[in-house]
Amino acid sequence: MHATCIFCKIVGGQIPSTRIFEDEHTLAFMDIRPVVKGHALVIPKIHCESLRDAPPEALSRTILTAQKVARAQLNGLSAEGVNIFHATGAAAGQVVPHLHLHVVPRFTTDGHHWNWKTVNYNNPDEMTEWAARIRSGFPEKR
Ligand code: AMP
Ligand code: ZN
Repeated sequence: MHATCIFCKIVGGQIPSTRIFEDEHTLAFMDIRPVVKGHALVIPKIHCESLRDAPPEALSRTILTAQKVARAQLNGLSAEGVNIFHATGAAAGQVVPHLHLHVVPRFTTDGHHWNWKTVNYNNPDEMTEWAARIRSGFPEKR
């Protein structure tokens, strides 16, 4: 529990939420500003901020609950598809610093479009260089 965290307060019941599923370790509730109606958030009950610090157990439990919610949206809303979205860090659009997965039911008629504009590598070597930089970020093998 993090004293100033709004999602911890939702877990604790100090802030109201419309819950759709919970178990011992995770909670799913409705996003108050849905990009598509039925948009839900899935969080671990323990406080962690993002992919950077999430304990593996909390993260795996969160994605498993997201799968349950996605299946419930497909069945209960007759959704035709589901998007899962996550932001780690303000640069990625994270506003609430308590790990959460957005689970968004999709319908061919929902009118929503992710604004994914692609960019180009200047040449094939540049992509290889970016790959090498990512590889350098893995923990050192012992
Ligand atoms: P993000 O930008 O990934 O940090 O997303 C935070 C999400 O939390 C947004 O989609 C908000 O609409 C949602 N949100 C913020 N406060 C609440 C709340 N009290 N209850 C439900 N959803 C919330
Ligand atoms: Zn929290």
